Amino acid sequence: MKAVVLLSGGLDSSLALKLIADQGIDVLALHFSSPFCRCDGAGGCGFSARKISEFVGVRLRSIYLGEEYLEMVKDPRHGRGRNLNPCIDCRILKFVHAKKTMEEEGASFIVTGEVIGQRPMSQHKRALNLIEEESGLKDLVVRPLSAKILSPTIPEREGWVNRDSFLDFQGRTRKPQMKLAQDLGINDYPCPGGGCLLTDPSFSRRVKDLLCHDLLDMDNVELLKVGRHFRLTSDFKLVVGRNESENNKLIALKQPEDIIFEPADTTGPTGMGRGPHAEQIIYFASKIIARYSDSDEAEVKIQIRTGREEKSFIVLAEKGENRFSEQI
Ligand code: SF4
Repeated sequence: MKAVVLLSGGLDSSLALKLIADQGIDVLALHFSSPFCRCDGAGGCGFSARKISEFVGVRLRSIYLGEEYLEMVKDPRHGRGRNLNPCIDCRILKFVHAKKTMEEEGASFIVTGEVIGQRPMSQHKRALNLIEEESGLKDLVVRPLSAKILSPTIPEREGWVNRDSFLDFQGRTRKPQMKLAQDLGINDYPCPGGGCLLTDPSFSRRVKDLLCHDLLDMDNVELLKVGRHFRLTSDFKLVVGRNESENNKLIALKQPEDIIFEPADTTGPTGMGRGPHAEQIIYFASKIIARYSDSDEAEVKIQIRTGREEKSFIVLAEKGENRFSEQI
């Protein structure tokens, strides 16, 4: 018997993976990432998923949901949670991909680390049923951590898995999971809790700004993760680095038409402007860079680079001005 286990790399899905693999079931772990994952790079959730797959001794497949995910975020059929998080549609999309993988792999069912009552929007019984139905996986999703408080699924009824070793976890506490992790020898897992960036109020505000201006695309989403954001016109936005690492990231994210702003004779932030603009917007953006520079002078020279030209403005720093405070 073969199963596909949805593995985020977090505590719950790691436990579900181990419980299923320990029953001798042939397992493929499936990891999803999206532009809204909280982690990136070497220490991210993909890294945790790889580590736990190796520990349990199962194969891992990763799927990146890019444009398709953005389209879903723009108009989720089942609404959003407290912020912009479209959890039900997000789960449906992932389950649809999981079903496809299940069929390609000749697997018979799906396993998740979901715990009843842990997430208000997507982890209650009605939502779980809806997600299964809409993804074509009705009764084929085994949830080992909460199975004892859910109706038996086909794999449980048919004896493909042993329901006796499953649990009755529910609610938001993670203590039982931590204890189980200890019992199963899983010692190294990321801090439990938190959803993706779409559950974060300030990040959601930035996404909402892109949605309102019909600018939500992959390039603009990457930019949301860096710096202070100023919407200067409906078309033009300025992003200002908060430290050296963000300054470097902004340079790396620059596209040919973007504009780089930097103080010429003092230390201070790098800014990046994106979008069509009039000259006075460039002047105003330069004043914002001056406001965040380290200069004590009343006037600051700001260097401006586009793909085609370089120029500079001398602007008033106006350090106390509220209109230069972060906007979105
Ligand atoms: S928190 Fe984010 S990743 Fe998790 S289900 Fe909700 S939308 Fe999807």
